[in-house]
This record gives sequence, structure tokens and C-alpha cells, in this order.
Amino acid sequence: MTPPPSPSTATRAFLARPHALYIGGRWVAPLAGRRFDVFDPGTGERIATAAAGDAADIDAAVAAARAAFTGPWSKFTAGERSRVIWKLADLIEQHAAELIELEVLDNGQPLAVAQHVVRNLAPEFFRYYAGWPTKIEGATIPAAPQGRRPGEVLSFTLREPIGVVGAITPWNAPLPMLMVKLAPALATGCTLVLKPAELTPLTALRMAELCSEAGVPDGVVNVVTGFGETAGAALAAHPGVDKIAFTGSTEVGRLIVKAATGNLKKVSLELGGKSPVIVFDDAVLEQVIPGAARACFFLQGQNCMAGTRLYVHEKVHDQVVEGIATIARSMQLGHGLDPASQFGPLISAEQRERVRGYVEAGRREGGELVCGGSAPARPGWFFQPTVFARMSADMTPVKNEIFGPVLCVQSFGDDDLERVAREANATIYGLSGSVWTRDIGRALGMVRRIDSGQVSVNMHAAVDPAMPFGGNRQSGWGREFGKEGLEPYLKTKGVSVAW
Ligand code: NAP
Ligand code: MG
Repeated sequence: MTPPPSPSTATRAFLARPHALYIGGRWVAPLAGRRFDVFDPGTGERIATAAAGDAADIDAAVAAARAAFTGPWSKFTAGERSRVIWKLADLIEQHAAELIELEVLDNGQPLAVAQHVVRNLAPEFFRYYAGWPTKIEGATIPAAPQGRRPGEVLSFTLREPIGVVGAITPWNAPLPMLMVKLAPALATGCTLVLKPAELTPLTALRMAELCSEAGVPDGVVNVVTGFGETAGAALAAHPGVDKIAFTGSTEVGRLIVKAATGNLKKVSLELGGKSPVIVFDDAVLEQVIPGAARACFFLQGQNCMAGTRLYVHEKVHDQVVEGIATIARSMQLGHGLDPASQFGPLISAEQRERVRGYVEAGRREGGELVCGGSAPARPGWFFQPTVFARMSADMTPVKNEIFGPVLCVQSFGDDDLERVAREANATIYGLSGSVWTRDIGRALGMVRRIDSGQVSVNMHAAVDPAMPFGGNRQSGWGREFGKEGLEPYLKTKGVSVAW
């Protein structure tokens, strides 16, 4: 096996740094002096070490964020905040080569994915939010409090930044997860303490520097790397934090809600998913087959929107399953930095064991393994893209979020539409989903029935900065992206002035 291409000098120099915490615009050592290793999932080798912040470091970061919130950041005009965010987008483009390599090395994703994120999605996302500061407006209200007559009172609302935000993010897409919290926080005038996933701290550290270069005042963006149970828990419970923006598992989401009860801080949650993909017999199969493969296997299935439950009409079932299996078998597994790789590793050895456990459960419970199902013999935490046919609603891999490349297929007939609609909603999750058909009535009928924050027709996981995204049921609270993505960062003050 050829070794992965070696990263650029700039990236190697960044990896070799003794990474610290970014607090109040300075790199500071963690107070307790602890560190942890950062691994490349594509080789399984250690590539860097990071600082393990804990409760005392979170205290310092929250104090810095508070000082910046009431101090210099509050003096920025809306237009000035806009320019800073736009500049950050420019800097991401200027440093794209390095950010791409860091994201690939940290997370394992194929080069093409990181290139799309760094060159397109992230700059577009920041520029979309750069447009908002000058458009955040309250309203004048025709109120008549305490018997006042028109002309005797002026009532209006102010939209104010919510304050100090604690952002806790997962490892599956490190830069996008950070970006969806950072951009609206900056747009609204909030300050931020970010705790990235311990498995992928690197791009967050580089972004902290780029924020500073973009003109974000010291203390507005603070990064405390470390563990969830220590740094994350301290942030979620901190009395000086006004809001937590969390993306991660439903299980930890529940812990965040509990931790927030002390000061009743506001909480927004982007949690797990188990999204249905429903294919009718009139769908364009040349689009369905690559579309459904991508829906499940993008980011090796480590994607909250992953379309992991495929319902296919019996007339086209065999053709669709064979088509997806052919793609799965032909996908080039490899290190993300190798441009030929189409499918990267899982994030960790532990995650691979989790996935393997679900595959074994699927086999035991009678699923038909069409392809994949094991780990190839090579360094790194790879697992083959896997397709199970003849699955049913009660099977373990169908009910649970696997967060790995495992597609579960079920078929349906003309008489089963009600069952499919019911089963589509029969998990605790409601994040995404898609319907594939040429019949607009059928498509919209299913769109209405699927209880999730996002449904696409003849495509899956349609992501755009302007499109609200978030979960129903146990997939979350609130929305990110778009205009709605600003709401969790704002509070409304009703003001009445008696003349
Ligand atoms: P996770 O285990 O819930 O961790 C997410 C973040 O929370 C990490 O930074 C983690 O720190 C931290 N954390 C862990 N325990 C904590 C605690 N007690 N208090 C405060 N913070 C704590 O999730 P993950 O395994 O990283 O990511 C996978 C999950 O994220 C999947 O369920 C996926 O569906 C979900 N996800 C959802 C979306 C969405 O937009 N809806 C997007 C992406 C991913 P450590 O790194 O130290 O564990
Ligand atoms: Mg890593």
C-alpha cells in the first residue's frame, strides 16, 4: 500500500505546534497542564497533541467572552460586524489549502469533501451571515398600555444579542459544525466559547487565529479544547453562559439540557438522525441509485442527515439494491489526502467497533448482507460500505443511529403506502428524509407525512446557507442556517415610552 501524500510545510508546522487554549485573544496553557493526542484516522497515527482544558479554563474563557461582549464588541456597528465576517470568508479562501489538509487529517474525510467545505460551503456560509447584521430589526407595535391613547405612547422592540454563547460541536464535520455557530453568533453581536470535539480540535484552533486576523476583537471567540465530560460539562453548566448551542448525540443532548437548568440558560440542540429515503417505482433510477448511495455513504455514514433507511417499491427493488451495491463495491477506500480516494476511514477504532456491532446484529436478526460488512486489512480505521436487504422495522440496525456506512433496505408495494409513511416516522429521530418519484402529488403527499426538519424530493440532504435546518422530535430543538438560524442568538426587548 502506498503511503498517503505528505501534507504541506505549513500544515506540518501547524501540527507540530504545542497547541494551547485560545482565551481572550491569547494562546494560554491549560491550567492543570494536561494534554491529549490527536490522531489521523486514515493511518491511526498520532499527528498532534492538544491542550485538555477543564472547568478552570472554561471559567477564564467565559470571563474573557463576557468582557468582550460588554466591552469592545458591543461598540461595533452592524456594518462593522458585517465586514469582519466577510473578511473571515476571504481568509478561509486564502488559507484554503492548509484548512483542507487539516480537516482531512483530523477527521479522515476524502479530499473532495474537504475541498467543497473549505472552498465553497464555508465562505458562502460566512458571506450569507455577513449580510445579516444590517438587517436585524425590531418592530414598532400599535400598543396601548395602561389606557394610553394613540400619540401618547411609542412601543417598539429591540433585537439584542443573547450574550455569551457556549458552542459544543461533534467530530463528524468539524469545520461546518463550528461555522454554523460562529457565523450567527458574530452576526448578532454575541461572544463565544467553543469546545470542539476532542477527536477533531485542529481546524477550530486555526479558525481562532483567522478570526483575530479578520478583526474580531480579543475575547469574542475563545477556543477551549478538551473532553466532553470535563470542559464540555463545565461550559454547559456555567452560570456565566447565556446560551448553549450544541451539536452531537441525542444522549449527550439530554445531559446538556440537565446541565443548563442551573441558570436556565437557553439551549439549542442539533442531534442524531435516522433518515428515510423513499423510492417509488416511477423514479428516475439513474438518479436514485447514485443519490441513495451518496445519501448513506457520504462522510462514511458519519452524517446526521445520512439516509440510512431505504424504502424501495418492490417493482424496482432488485435493480436499485444491485445498483447501490455495485457503487459500494467499487468505491475506492483510501487516505483522504490521496485524491483517488472516494471513501475514507471512520473516526476511531471505537467507532469502528460500534459499527461492526450493528452489522453483526443485522446478520443475527436475519438481514441479507448484500455487500461490505467488514473492515479491510489496512492501517487506519476503515470499514466497507455495507448494504443490508430484507430488513424490517424491528431490527437493531434499522431502529438505531449507527453513524457508519450501513444501509438498511426494505421494500413496499402499492398497498403499503400508509405503512411506509408510518415507519418513516417510527424512530425517535426527525432530522432529514427524501422522496424519489416523478409524480408531484405523491411527492408532496409524502413530504407532508414525513415528520422531520428537512425533506427533499429527488435529492437528499439539500444543504444551503439560506435553508433552515434542524430536527423534530428527539433530533433537536431549534433551527440553524438561514434567517431562522439567527433566532437562537437574539432576544427581544419590548420597550414602551410614554410621552
Ligand atoms: P457526542 O458524543 O454527543 O459529542 C458531541 C460534543 O459534546 C463533543 O464535543 C463532546 O466532547 C461533547 N460532550 C460529550 N459529553 C458531554 C457532556 N457531558 N457535557 C457537555 N459536552 C459533552 O457526539 P459525537 O459522537 O461527537 O457526534 C456524533 C453525533 O452527533 C451523532 O449522534 C450525530 O447525529 C450528531 N450530529 C448531529 C448533527 C445535526 O446537525 N443534527 C450534525 C452532526 C452530528 P468529546 O469530544 O470529548 O466527547
Ligand atoms: Mg482526529
